[in-house]
Amino acid sequence: MLLEGIKKMIKDNHFIQGYGVVETSLQLVDGNAYFILIKDGKKYLGAYGKREELLDFESLKTINDNDFVLKVGELSLNNNKALVARFNWLKPVKRDNFKYSFGLGDRLGFASLAHLNLFKDYDVLPVLAQQSIRELMLTGRTFEEVLASASYAAFEAGYTKGFGADGDHLKHEYEIEYAINAGYPMITLDLSEHIVNSIDNILVEYEKLSDETRNVYETRYLNKDFVVGNTTLQFTKEHLMYSVLTYHEAISYADHIYKKYVVPHNLDFEISIDETVNKTTVYDHFFIANELHLLNIKVDTMAPKFHGEFQKGIDYIGELDIFEEEYIIHQAIADMFNFKLSIHSGSDKFSVFPIIGKVSANGLHAKTAGTNWLEALRVVGDVNSELLENIYYFATVNLNKAKQYYHIMTNASDAKPVSDFEKVSDLLNDDHSRQILHITHGLVLSHKVEGVYVYKQLIYQILEENFDLYKQYLNTHIKKHLDLLGLK
Ligand code: ZN
Repeated sequence: MLLEGIKKMIKDNHFIQGYGVVETSLQLVDGNAYFILIKDGKKYLGAYGKREELLDFESLKTINDNDFVLKVGELSLNNNKALVARFNWLKPVKRDNFKYSFGLGDRLGFASLAHLNLFKDYDVLPVLAQQSIRELMLTGRTFEEVLASASYAAFEAGYTKGFGADGDHLKHEYEIEYAINAGYPMITLDLSEHIVNSIDNILVEYEKLSDETRNVYETRYLNKDFVVGNTTLQFTKEHLMYSVLTYHEAISYADHIYKKYVVPHNLDFEISIDETVNKTTVYDHFFIANELHLLNIKVDTMAPKFHGEFQKGIDYIGELDIFEEEYIIHQAIADMFNFKLSIHSGSDKFSVFPIIGKVSANGLHAKTAGTNWLEALRVVGDVNSELLENIYYFATVNLNKAKQYYHIMTNASDAKPVSDFEKVSDLLNDDHSRQILHITHGLVLSHKVEGVYVYKQLIYQILEENFDLYKQYLNTHIKKHLDLLGLK
């Protein structure tokens, strides 16, 4: 009824003729209506109701209708606040009520709508807003914008099941404060700057610790059997010295952050130790988990650096049997200390997903991010192959700049010429070109000549005009992740 009334009003009023109402978005509360409007591919927020009840909405156009008013405004941060004040489900939630959660990290700001279309059929929390400071810098977005775009996507889809927001890979206090102030209920604390990556002489370094410190650790760990799952861990002096020297500073930093931010703000807390040089051995993992436990630190998820390589945008590289053997112990440690494992750089790790899904059947968190960007480029390739070819050329030339931020195996010299491929979008099926295109997303999007974006607008326009195709590619790709992980 009301929808018909609104549609008629739009039709009859030349100020707003041509705007379409997105029907999945329509919400009615206390006789007022809220919805997304779309015109020429651009989206707006519509609110129709009693004038004095819509005062907090900013509008570009206001149409009076006796005591009622129709407001059409931008999808702005303030309008999002006004919506969130009415609909609690537009606020991000913590992961505690979900066995599985999946980080998506929409880089362009409109993959979320497509993702929700998939997640509505799964009992998995989609962490729609998930960006690191590095990604914010590279894409020129703010934490507030990323969160608002996730929230608007939930609104547009009418997705009331809840979504997450993760201040990802935060290292410094000001970054954590930034995420908290922007309304993120979850942080991922990256300890890499406090982890010691190389120890010249382990004995000499260990002797530098006070007698008291060494005694505490040695009494705690040496000559003991730690039963985790079906395995018994017995620390040798070498194991212990290595774990202590590598992680003790990181653990005290985690303790500081936990007391200063996590407890007072009741945050959903992940610790990541994956972006380091050396893998997290099962001894290291046990040591860290046990030390955190003794400090009364409750982590929700932990991201170790697993055996093998989890490089961006391509399948797992490494020995599957060793991965599995260790992963089982990592999971047993997580079970023992009551947290879940978090799988970072999870895009496209298809060969290990069945193992992860089987071993972590009681719950896990996985993160992907670059996938939505690569699938966006697949659409670009289908629609305008010359544009993708230009982007690929630009990405190859600028690869070394991007490699400062991301660790990948591919070098510019590995770049195959486009002529090697049957069609240009097949670039997205080759490991080397995938990696080249994956890590250069920020450079591609921000590239300007004489103040004008060279690629950004064109890419956005193609995605807007071919949104159904984008949705199809994204859903097919992410679905494969969820299904191989056995998530339901
Ligand atoms: Zn990570």
